[in-house]
Amino acid sequence: MTERNKFYITTPIYYVNDKPHIGHAYTTIAADVLARLHRQLGEDTWFLTGTDEHGSKIAQAAEKAGKTPQEFSDEVSAKFSFAWDQLGIAPDDFIRTTEKRHEEAVGIFLEKLKESGKLYEGEYQGLYCVGHEAFIKEADLVDGVCPEHKTKPVQLKEKNWFFKLSDYQNGLLSKIEDDEFKIEPQVRKNEVISFIKQGLEDIAISRPNVKWGIPLPWDKNQTIYVWVDALFNYCSAIGYGKDEGNFNRYWPADIQVMAKDIIKFHCIIWPALLSAAGLPLPKKVFAHGFFTVGGQKISKTIGNVIDPNDWVEKYGADAVRYFLLREVPFGQDGDVSEEKLKGRYNADLANGLGNLFSRVTNMIEQYLQGDVDDFIRSPKDLTSAQEAFFNLDFAGGLAQIWAEIAWANQLIDKAKPWELQKTDPAKVKELLVNLAALLYDIAAKLAPVLPETANKIRSHLEAGKIVKAEPLFRKFE
Ligand SMILES: [Zn+2]
Repeated sequence: MTERNKFYITTPIYYVNDKPHIGHAYTTIAADVLARLHRQLGEDTWFLTGTDEHGSKIAQAAEKAGKTPQEFSDEVSAKFSFAWDQLGIAPDDFIRTTEKRHEEAVGIFLEKLKESGKLYEGEYQGLYCVGHEAFIKEADLVDGVCPEHKTKPVQLKEKNWFFKLSDYQNGLLSKIEDDEFKIEPQVRKNEVISFIKQGLEDIAISRPNVKWGIPLPWDKNQTIYVWVDALFNYCSAIGYGKDEGNFNRYWPADIQVMAKDIIKFHCIIWPALLSAAGLPLPKKVFAHGFFTVGGQKISKTIGNVIDPNDWVEKYGADAVRYFLLREVPFGQDGDVSEEKLKGRYNADLANGLGNLFSRVTNMIEQYLQGDVDDFIRSPKDLTSAQEAFFNLDFAGGLAQIWAEIAWANQLIDKAKPWELQKTDPAKVKELLVNLAALLYDIAAKLAPVLPETANKIRSHLEAGKIVKAEPLFRKFE
């Protein structure tokens, strides 16, 4: 008996200072598709997402809303779970950094780092951007403000515990260059390499004046730096320090998916912390790009922030999943808008796949009395479209499947079964049996991306007697 492969995939845990937007949805949909694909292949799959709930930014947002940080986090975290549910995203676990299981595991981890001499006490003097929840260099400011948050950083002089990040510079560099720790796409790998080559400085891993956080186990006046707290979720969630069996079953992560703005944390600080604790590094980090909306940068000021729930309500979860993964090659920046979603919905889903399914089921009912006994069921090998998904080329895999759909629709147009039926019914039967098999196969390939639609197609075709199907997607005017 061969042992089943395991597949552990994570998204970042999302910061609860604001509700989910389309970028969070994008990352999480991609991870869900991969998890579903690996489950389909029979692997021991674990898909983790969750929310990051500590730090001064959360405390400030809660205060503004007139709530305690915990009440505020509870509310926003529930919005993330709700959005994922609406989008047909099915994680195996949803971790919150305010959960006891997480707080305890982080404490155990930091004790271990301290015992092994990787931490030291020091004084930090410098600038801190609350928007980033990170120290920022004078040289990175534009006109005295953080170029991303447009806010003035605060001057800090405080006692902290430091992590010897500088010790890991060379080791990390060689692991990244050799792909022992893979960073994709290549452009992100290059970015991380050149950043490391500029030299790594030690980082503060605790803060004395941030109340909303996990206390340092040996110095309760300090709380753990929110990024260190957050990054460790990938280990705490699967049982670090508590359930070694489960932890060893899934760690290291096979893929950590994220947006490109947080790769320095995930490709430098995170692997260095893991190395310091003697833990293996994730196998791969994949960073996707950013969206613009209708050609403009997404911003609250412009008012073009997209709430994924609005799109799901109108077009359905499968359509939103399909659109986001098809429209922009994963890893690149791209533009999305409701107009584009509607265009893809009508052309690809309603006219393409939906039309093919209606036509084929209609003709099976009319010409074969609903009977396509023994049509061939889909092959079990990984097809090239699935292989593309496997390599996170979602747009490429979907394009291949849609080429098949277009081909099948053209085949029907050319064969004209409504005429052929009068002269050669055996030929029509052969055609329809093959088309039923093709649709069944397409449904299997699409299942990770369009789970609801794939299910409808398969269960319809598996019925003893096939009748004309209800439209899978109703066209929008
Ligand atoms: Zn900033």
